[in-house]
Amino acid sequence: MPVQTKNPAVPKTVESPINPWEVALKQLEIVAKHMKLDPGIQSYLSYPKRCLIVSVPVRMDDGSIKIFEGYRVQHNLARGPAKGGIRYHPGVTLDEVKALAFWMTLKCAVLGLPYGGAKGGVRVDPKKLSLAELERMTRRYTSEISIIIGPGKDIPAPDVYTNSQTMAWMMDTYSMGIGHSAPGVVTGKPLEIGGSLGRNEATGRGCVYTIENAFRKLHWNLKGTTAVIQGFGNAGSVCAKLLADLGVQVIAVSDSKGGVHSPQGLDVPKLILLKNKGGSVTDYSGSGVTRLTNQEILELKCDILVPAALENQITGANAARIQARLIAEAANGPTTPEADEILYKKEVFLLPDILANAGGVTVSYFEWVQDNLAYFWKEEEINQRLEDLMSAAFENVYLLAQEEKVDMRMAAQILAVRKIAQALKMRGIYP
Ligand code: GLU
Repeated sequence: MPVQTKNPAVPKTVESPINPWEVALKQLEIVAKHMKLDPGIQSYLSYPKRCLIVSVPVRMDDGSIKIFEGYRVQHNLARGPAKGGIRYHPGVTLDEVKALAFWMTLKCAVLGLPYGGAKGGVRVDPKKLSLAELERMTRRYTSEISIIIGPGKDIPAPDVYTNSQTMAWMMDTYSMGIGHSAPGVVTGKPLEIGGSLGRNEATGRGCVYTIENAFRKLHWNLKGTTAVIQGFGNAGSVCAKLLADLGVQVIAVSDSKGGVHSPQGLDVPKLILLKNKGGSVTDYSGSGVTRLTNQEILELKCDILVPAALENQITGANAARIQARLIAEAANGPTTPEADEILYKKEVFLLPDILANAGGVTVSYFEWVQDNLAYFWKEEEINQRLEDLMSAAFENVYLLAQEEKVDMRMAAQILAVRKIAQALKMRGIYP
C-alpha cells in the first residue's frame, strides 16, 4: 500500500486504471506464444529478480517529517549488471516500476548492451518539493537502495522528473558511503563528474535516428511531413527540435498542463524557451494556435506521432481514431496490446519503445564505459556510435518483422527474448 499522509507532496493514488505490469505480462504472453518459448523461460521472465521497497523519510523545510515510498526493481540480470532510470512521479507504483524494469531488460537486449534491466521510482510530486527537500529525499532514497546498486551491480539513470542534478546527488551519496568517488554508479551525470557528452540529448536523438531509418526503409520522404509530440520533457523536446531541424513541421505538442496545436507549425525553439523559463507549452501563443488536451493531440492528422510522456496513452479506446502514418514511442509503454492490434490492422507503422527510445540507455552505456576507462570521447564520436548501434538494431528488428510477418514490437520482443533466453540457458539455473 502506498504511504498516504496529509502532505500534498505525498500524493493520493493517481495511477492509471490500466496496470502496466499486466500490460508487460500480456506482451510477454503474446511473444512467448508466437515464439513457442519454453514455458520455463516465460515464467522466469514473469518474475522480477528483486523488488526492493523502501520508506524514504524526509525532514521538510518547515521541520515536519514526511515519508515517501520508493522502489528499485531488478528484473533480470542474465546479460549483465542491472540498468535503468529513476522516476519521481505521483503515479509511481511497484507494478509500474516492475513493468519499466522488464522493458529495460528487453531494451538492453535489443541494442546488444551488456546489461540486464532495472528501474526505480519514488511516489512523489517533485514539483511540490523545494530544491533542498528534493536533495534530501534523493540522498535518503539513494542510501536506502545502496544495498543493491553499484557500478558493477545496478546502475541508475534519469527518467521522468529526474535529471543530471539528481544523478549528481545520487553519485555523491553512494560515494560518501563507500569512502571514495564511484562515478560509474549512475549515468546521466553532469559532465564535471564523469558524465558523457551527448547523454542529455540521447533519447530524443536516438528516436529521431530510428524515425529516419524507418522513413528510408519505407521510401517515404521526411522533409515537409508533420509531427505531433505528446510530452515535452527531455525526450519530447529534443525530438521536436531535431525533427524541426530536418524540415518536419511540428504541428502540436503537449506537457502535463495540456497541448497546443497550429496547422501552420509551431516554433520549436520558442517552445523550448518557454519550458526552460519554468513555463508550460500551453503558454505558447500565436495566430491560428488552439489549445487541446493531451488525449486530443494524439488523434490529430499527422505523419509522425511521438508519445513522449507516460504509459497507456494509446489504448483500445482511442487507437481506432489515430490518424498518424508512423508512431515512434519515445515514452516507455505508451501503447497497450489491444491498441497494437488495432494499429497494425490500420497499417500504422509503429516503432516500439524498446527500440525507439533506446538512445538514452545506449549513451548511458557509453558513459559507463568512459567512467570505467577514465577516458572520455568527443561528442561526434558518441553520436556516431549511437547512430551505428541504433541503425543496426533497427535493421535487425525490421528484418525479423519481415521474416516473421509481425509488427515491429513483436519483432523487437522476439529478438530480445531470444538473446535473454540464450544467456539464461548458457548460464543455467543455480545451483
Ligand atoms: N530512463 C531511460 C530509459 O527508460 C534511460 C535508462 C538508462 O539510461 O539507464 O530508457
